[in-house]
Amino acid sequence: EEDGDVGEEYLFKIVLIGDSAVGKSNLLSRFARNEFDTNSKATIGVEFQTQVVEIEGKEVKAQIWDTAGQERFRAVTSAYYRGAVGALVVYDISRRSTFDGIKRWLEELATQNDGTVATMLVGNKCDLENIREVSVEEGKNLAEAEGLFFMETSALDTTNVQIAFETVIREIYDNIS
Ligand code: GDP
Ligand code: MG
Repeated sequence: EEDGDVGEEYLFKIVLIGDSAVGKSNLLSRFARNEFDTNSKATIGVEFQTQVVEIEGKEVKAQIWDTAGQERFRAVTSAYYRGAVGALVVYDISRRSTFDGIKRWLEELATQNDGTVATMLVGNKCDLENIREVSVEEGKNLAEAEGLFFMETSALDTTNVQIAFETVIREIYDNIS
C-alpha cells in the first residue's frame, strides 16, 4: 500500500460460533494462515484475526472473531456478537450432538444481534467420512429451513475453507452496497 492511498474502507466483523471442538479455531487458522493444529488448545487466547480480501477492486478487511474456548462454559459474551455482520455457525459432521446444538447457537446469534447477519452453516471435518454421523442432506435441509448458506469443510485437508469465508464476506459486501 502506498502512503496517502485514499479509498473506501470496509471492515466486517464476522464471528465463529458452535460447540466446543468442532474446529472453529482451526478453520480460522487455516483461512488466515494456512495452518492446522492437532492440539486444540494451540490457538486459545486469540481474540480475532484480520484478513484482507479484495472484492471488485476494493480492499475489504474481515475481522474474524474466535471464541477462545469460552463456549465450553456457555458464556460467549454479548460483546462477542456486538456489531457482527457475518457468522459461521459450525458443527462437526462426525458428532451429531454438535449438529443438534446448532439451533441454540442460531437463537443466541439472533437475540444478541439485531442487524442482518450473513450466516453460513458449516459442517466441518468432512474428511472424517468413515465416521460421519450427519448426512450432507441434513445439513442442507437445516440451512434451507433457516435461510442460511451451507458448506461442508475440512480445516484438516482444506476443503471449502477459503470459499466458506469468502462467500460470507461477499454476501456482507452485497448487503451493504
Ligand atoms: P474449536 O474448539 O471449535 O475451536 O475446535 P478446534 O479448532 O480447537 O479443533 C478441535 C479438534 O478437532 C482439534 O483436535 C483439531 O485438530 C480437530 N479438527 C479441527 N478441524 C478438523 C477437521 O477439519 N478435520 C479433522 N479430522 N479434525 C479437525
Ligand atoms: Mg477454539
